[in-house]
Amino acid sequence: MTQRLAESLSLAVQIPTLSHADPDKEDRKVFQEFLDFLEERYPKMYEKLEVKRFGDSILYIWRGKKEEGELILAHYDVVPHEGQEWSADPFGGEISDGYVIGRGTLDDKGNCILLHEAVESLLREKFKPEKTIYLAIGADEEVGGRRGAVQMAAYLKEIGAQIHTILDEGGAVSVDAIKGGEKPFALIGLAEKGATNFKLTLRGSGGHSSMPPPSNAIGRMAKLIQKIEENPPKVRLTPTVQAMFEAMAPFMGSQGKLLGKIRKLFPIVSKFLVASPTTNAFVRTTFCVTMIDGGNAPNVIPAKAEAIVNARILQGESVESVMTYLRKQLGEEVEIEVILHEEPSRVTPHDTQEFQLLKESVEYTFGDVEVVPYLMSGASDARHYQALSEHIFRFSPVVMTKEDIASIHSADEKISLDNIDKGFFFFKDYLKQRSMR
Ligand SMILES: [Zn+2]
Repeated sequence: MTQRLAESLSLAVQIPTLSHADPDKEDRKVFQEFLDFLEERYPKMYEKLEVKRFGDSILYIWRGKKEEGELILAHYDVVPHEGQEWSADPFGGEISDGYVIGRGTLDDKGNCILLHEAVESLLREKFKPEKTIYLAIGADEEVGGRRGAVQMAAYLKEIGAQIHTILDEGGAVSVDAIKGGEKPFALIGLAEKGATNFKLTLRGSGGHSSMPPPSNAIGRMAKLIQKIEENPPKVRLTPTVQAMFEAMAPFMGSQGKLLGKIRKLFPIVSKFLVASPTTNAFVRTTFCVTMIDGGNAPNVIPAKAEAIVNARILQGESVESVMTYLRKQLGEEVEIEVILHEEPSRVTPHDTQEFQLLKESVEYTFGDVEVVPYLMSGASDARHYQALSEHIFRFSPVVMTKEDIASIHSADEKISLDNIDKGFFFFKDYLKQRSMR
């Protein structure tokens, strides 16, 4: 089976489904080629399931005896590789040294293909689900999901689909990403931060650069950026992050003693947490100036300077409160415009039977791991489905090292054959278990 799974993923990687915020800049033929590939590779699915298209995104409906349903999400679009130093062709789909190498293997063609394989395999075994199973496969997740996830969620709402739980990509089984961890942690994302973009604009008078004023729009913008970097929002402990650290604490050696009392000792513990970008993101809203633009000739004073601030908003705050914060920091002179508005997601409760069932599935596949709640700082399609269920879990069934995590959206993304086996096994078991109760 491993051979077949690896080959399927390799073939999928070789179709470069690069999504773009501007749909006109996407290669429609490539997306169609990918959809044709799925249809050819998974004939039973296309014979037995209802398949609905939303642009290039697809929704499969596998009718069970019951109306009640389960929803699983994945996406097959990928991010570009320009400027990254790959040691293999990102779209070559090379299988070597126990890995399938290429863009999308971890995010998220791996999940997409293994999910298809699991369903196809269950169909071959003549498995019949009790509940109805919905699989929503996005083609534009990396650029916001407006054409895919948003439409599919609206459709599911419209037909009155009764979704019990939702599973999407997200946390994974982390072996060494959390410093001091004595056990692998299976991170189950219960929430995601809001990913919002603000555009800052400063205007000036322009003119010839041979007789310049002491400062111009670019210089003033530089000062504002410095202010943003030097004045991060206050640290705060949210219930999800508290639950995460409390669950990890018993397996964290000496630092576990502090983390176990994070609520009481937060003023001290937070000092350690903010020292690393990963843990810093758990305890505050973050700002990152990601783009800057200003001036268009070497000898002309810029009449305008612009900067994009990507904010990741922690639960308990909002786009509006963050806007107020920026306004207070930066003063009245700068124009601030919200160009992407995403509030922080709701938080899935974890003292539930639904969480318990997922925990059992994870342990069944991955053995001796500690299943813990987790806050995602990245955004995923799951947020678009919030109206359909309160039980949304963000988890990719894959064991990841620090190095693996760093390769996502970056160079040398790859997945091990062992992981491919585990992912396939997990999805098959999850589908069986979830569709029965
Ligand atoms: Zn993804």
